[in-house]
Amino acid sequence: MTVLHGKTAIVTGASSGIGRATAKLFAREGARVVVSARRGAELDALVAEIEAEGGQAVAVAGDVRDESLAKALVDTAVERFGGLDIAFNNAGVVGEMAPVSEVSTAGWRDVLDTNLTGAFLGAKYQVPAMLARGGGSLVFTSTFVGWTVGMPGMAAYAAAKAGLIGLTKVLAAELGPKGVRANAILPGGTDTPASITNAPGAGPEVLAFVENLHALKRIARPEEIARSVLHLASDAASFVTGTAMLVDGGVSVTRT
Ligand code: NAP
Repeated sequence: MTVLHGKTAIVTGASSGIGRATAKLFAREGARVVVSARRGAELDALVAEIEAEGGQAVAVAGDVRDESLAKALVDTAVERFGGLDIAFNNAGVVGEMAPVSEVSTAGWRDVLDTNLTGAFLGAKYQVPAMLARGGGSLVFTSTFVGWTVGMPGMAAYAAAKAGLIGLTKVLAAELGPKGVRANAILPGGTDTPASITNAPGAGPEVLAFVENLHALKRIARPEEIARSVLHLASDAASFVTGTAMLVDGGVSVTRT
């Protein structure tokens, strides 16, 4: 029996990286998945891959900074698949990397809007649909940056992602009595387009430096993060709520 049999999930940031890997895993585990990001062509390709494997998915392209997208995702889950059980609010950007006094105010606001307000808007519409179902699971993608480690040059990203952990804890406290769990996942370095190891001009020395920051001396594959998201989303984590779960290869504990 697949662990998400009969469940419906929303996955944002599904056009690449961690979100894409998680959407595929959710579908393999029996969930019907509403996938979202701005790049529609990538989403269509993902839906085709999921359907080719016998899964069910629908794409809704849009920007998480837009409140109407949050509503459209939930409406799609309800209309196409009958309700909503799981939401992986994962869309995010690193944004401008600069010391605080050099970060533009517009750049700061954009990172907060995408990573934090985008997730808030998601939850705002997802929660009533989950309550109508009698329960559910919210998972937010945070990071070790700003939680266990202060990384120079990443102020807006760190503030937004640490803010997500605060949002997660409040949601857990508000919704626990009603059967909805809320958790954050905190990946370490992960091999996706957003990773600084894949930034334009980043050579093998950047990868080696980042790998060495981790106790496991490597960075993650997106599929490894997806497996932990699956755990939090599924009934296997039925007593887990309000947690900030490090899936970071030991980057938070390494000093060598
Ligand atoms: P990625 O491959 O670049 O994925 C980011 C996703 O977010 C893409 O699907 C992107 O899609 C979507 N997105 C960005 N801005 C958006 C917006 N305004 N509206 C809608 N969708 C938007 O990178 P990733 O590493 O998988 O990132 C996924 C999450 O993991 C992010 O929240 C990131 O901060 C977090 N994270 C990553 C790492 C790492 O080392 N890679 C570590 C810790 C945490 P479109 O461009 O198509 O919109």
